[in-house]
Amino acid sequence: MPMRVDLMNDPEAPLIERVCTACCDYYKPGKAEPERCGGFRRLATELTAGRLRPSWEAALQDPPGPELSFDRLLDQAVCQVCPFRAADCDYRDPDGPADATPCGGLRALDRLLARGLLRAADLSVTLLRP
Ligand code: SF4
Ligand code: SF4
Repeated sequence: MPMRVDLMNDPEAPLIERVCTACCDYYKPGKAEPERCGGFRRLATELTAGRLRPSWEAALQDPPGPELSFDRLLDQAVCQVCPFRAADCDYRDPDGPADATPCGGLRALDRLLARGLLRAADLSVTLLRP
């Protein structure tokens, strides 16, 4: 039987609602994910670090589209260190389905970059790490 997730007691519930529920085609309500994707993790990091402008939540109210404006940057800064990349990401799999969409975390980050609510320079810092 699949493990149920208890969102009431999950401190990340608000972010799950904004990112997974609203933006991710792969989200399965009530099914626990043992790990969250790199996009979600990076968004959580940026939020905790106070690098998101206050209106970030409003910017995600309409689900972002599947096309990414910052695909290359996000690939390098986020997907390269995502635990799903090697085996579980259809979007980054060169042999994956042609219509595979980015995860919600990546779509959310892209929307925030496009609206100027997150600075590309903050994400680019990842590229400078050894
Ligand atoms: S698009 Fe794939 S590799 Fe990139 S962050 Fe999302 S799940 Fe991970
Ligand atoms: S892939 Fe990422 S955005 Fe999608 S449901 Fe999982 S943690 Fe949320």
